[in-house]
This record gives sequence, C-alpha cells and structure tokens, in this order.
Amino acid sequence: MIKVMISVILSTMVISLLGLSVAAQTNRRAAELKKWRIHDETRPLPPIVDPGPPQASMPAPSDAVVLFNGKDLLQWTDAKGAPAGWQVKGEYVEAVDKSGSIKTKRAFGDCQLHVEWATPSAPTGSGQNRGNSGVFLMEIYEVQVLDSYDNATYADGSAAAIYGQYPPLVNACRKPGEWQTYDILFRAPRFDGDGEVLSPARMTVFHNGILVHDNQELTGPTAHKARPPYKAHADKLPVSLQDHGNPVRYRNIWIRELQP
Ligand code: MG
Repeated sequence: MIKVMISVILSTMVISLLGLSVAAQTNRRAAELKKWRIHDETRPLPPIVDPGPPQASMPAPSDAVVLFNGKDLLQWTDAKGAPAGWQVKGEYVEAVDKSGSIKTKRAFGDCQLHVEWATPSAPTGSGQNRGNSGVFLMEIYEVQVLDSYDNATYADGSAAAIYGQYPPLVNACRKPGEWQTYDILFRAPRFDGDGEVLSPARMTVFHNGILVHDNQELTGPTAHKARPPYKAHADKLPVSLQDHGNPVRYRNIWIRELQP
C-alpha cells in the first residue's frame, strides 16, 4: 500500500515537473519575442542543420483524410469557393501566379497535417521573393514556406517560421527543387462565449523530420508587419496554401483530425 502511494506521489511529481518544463520553455520563447520587432533584421537567424537527402513520400495512414493525392484538386477551391486555379502536373500541384491561395472544402480544428513541398529549382529573386508560399491552419495561422537554402531573410519569415512570430529552432531547408516535408501538430485556439481566449493556438512542427517548433503558443493570427490579437472564430476552418507569386509545388497532403 505504502509502496503504491509513494509511486503515485513520485509519478505525480514527474508529471508536474514535465509540465513545468514545457511551460518554462514556452514562456521563455514568449518573453524573448518581446525583444524583437516584427520582421526584425537583427534577430538571429536559426542555425543551419543538414536534414540529409530527400526521402520517399510518406504514405497517408489509414485514418487520414487525403487532401491531395497527386491526381486532382477535388478537395480544394480558390479563396472565394470557385474551382482552384493551381495546376496539377504529374504527382504534384503547382501554385499559379495571381490565381490566389487555395483552401480545403472541409474544415479542421485540432489536427496532424503532413505536407510535402518544393521551391523552384532554378531559383529567382531573393529574400521573401524566393520560393514563397505558406501552409495556413484555419486560413489564419501560417507556417512559412520559403526557399531558405542560402537565402537570408528576416528570421521570423524564414522557411518553417510561424510567420512574424517565431523563427524555426533550426534551418533544416533542403536545396531548391528538392522535396521537403512539414509535419504539423496543431491545437486550435479556444474562445469563450464572449470571444475571450480560453487557450491560444499551439503548434509543434517538424521540418524534414527535424523539430522546429515545440508546442509553441501563438500570439494570435500571423500577419505581415503586424501581430494582431486573437479574434474569436469557428472551431473548424479550412487549411489553405498561399499563392505568393512563386511556382511552389506541393504533393502528398494528408490530415488526421485529433480529439480535442
Ligand atoms: Mg508565405
């Protein structure tokens, strides 16, 4: 009996310590954020990590909703709900300049999202004009897509940044033209009946299999030159992919809905 009690007490302590360390790390990054103006050019760039060569495409698990399987855009529309204007070519779909972003017909809240992408292999432009696109959760919260291989830009706009808020922990970008992956664990924000935030949005992100955000709390919607506050929204909203004028490619996109 006493042994059981001691082991319960010990495991409770371990669990609360683990909780504290996650909270401490989240708080540390949140405190650091205050030091930097949005898109601050003096904010340190994430250290470069070589993720190794591209891997074979990871098949969708049996409980996933397949959003793009290399054949058609039946799961997608343009921003206004009309047929998506991006081009399906072979196994991938390519952003078409001025056709606008595309979004899923279905809406999602808490989820695990797998996306594969490649920036143009003959890179043009520099900074934010080189292979720019983006993966938006709920059409509101962007994980930046950019050619950050040998292409400096402001840290909070690098590939895999939570745009305008948090640079990735490391720069795990592959060369332009090579396939890369994002695996995103997203927890949607919760609002009460008055529209007050009960809990902020959170993201854990792997870029090419490498951890780049660890249960990161978002300050609100991601935006250009602004960090707007949260505004209450639906529990589920579409995933969208950004048209930023560059022919970025996507393939093998799938999503698993998670229990709240
Ligand atoms: Mg973008």
